[in-house]
Amino acid sequence: MVLCAIAPPSLLLRLADAGSRSAREAALETIRVSERLRGRRIAVARALREQGVAVPPDRPGVTANTVFDVEGGEESALPGRQVRGDGDPPSADAAVNEAYDHAAATVAFYREVHARESIDGRGLDLVSSVHFGQRYDNAFWTGEQMVYGDGGGGTFVAGALTRSLDVIAHELTHGVTQYTANLVYEAQSGALNESFSDVFGILVKQRAGGIDAASSDWLIGAGALEPSLGTALRSMLAPGTAYSGDDQPADMDSYRDLPVDDDPRNDSGGVHINSGIPNRAFAEAARTLGGNAWETVGPVWYTVLTERLRANAQFADAAAATIAVAAERYGDGSREHDAVRGGWDAVKVAPTPGDGAQRSSTRRPDPR
Ligand SMILES: [Zn+2]
Repeated sequence: MVLCAIAPPSLLLRLADAGSRSAREAALETIRVSERLRGRRIAVARALREQGVAVPPDRPGVTANTVFDVEGGEESALPGRQVRGDGDPPSADAAVNEAYDHAAATVAFYREVHARESIDGRGLDLVSSVHFGQRYDNAFWTGEQMVYGDGGGGTFVAGALTRSLDVIAHELTHGVTQYTANLVYEAQSGALNESFSDVFGILVKQRAGGIDAASSDWLIGAGALEPSLGTALRSMLAPGTAYSGDDQPADMDSYRDLPVDDDPRNDSGGVHINSGIPNRAFAEAARTLGGNAWETVGPVWYTVLTERLRANAQFADAAAATIAVAAERYGDGSREHDAVRGGWDAVKVAPTPGDGAQRSSTRRPDPR
């Protein structure tokens, strides 16, 4: 697994290319630090794999939530100084309280909706670090903890990264994925990895706000970008419309077949780009059904992520698996079954035959 950051590289690169001088410097710094942290994340994933994943004991209901302040330092300073421990009263620092409250809301979602104890299913303690770097325009899950920059470097409104519940739930869901399907973070499996984070990011936000599928804006990071750039990081319902230069395709006709290499413009084979396709399949299915998406299609996507997909799953496998689980859960030919199939139809993904759980024709590449 590589670093899972919220800002798509294409957006940062556009600023590095065309922004003001300060925006360009901030974007380049963000890319530079992200590339360094990627090495750390690979080392962690490799160690876990080589040891067989260490499984902590079950700790129902006792996930500790702790926030640290990196005070402008970078990865060598992580996690920083502890500023709010589990159960402590609020801090005077808004970023500390937002990181704390949104991590708690995300864990509550997984516990109350899916009976899942924290991101690993076994009560893993949550560690968040705020005030990473100088005007650092990104937030990410390192494989071990959450890290938030302050924004204000030209891409994000200052403070937006901790303020956005869906951004925090997106990042923590990368942890859920790491402990479950462990989708390889490149090309289609990587775009699915990104999409599951957006799906649960928006579901956590919808549930916290009592927002049903019809009234949701289906935007990830609404209001987080500088207004001159656009309204959000991604639109799940209308991929490609969130910001100026948003290059997400809305269906397979516009799929971007990008190389998997170290060039950030190629986004590890388009993981933040082609994720628009499965995102829209989910949003369309949820909108067709109406009501609360975390009670309709959300549980289908959760079962597929945690029980059905292999690490190298492709879009067609995810389509087959979600259609199969919808039929199992709600009945063959049910409204839900039809809505999930309709969602994948809308984005022109044909499901693989069967339930999507088996796929042996593609090799699982080494993480990079
Ligand atoms: Zn992500």
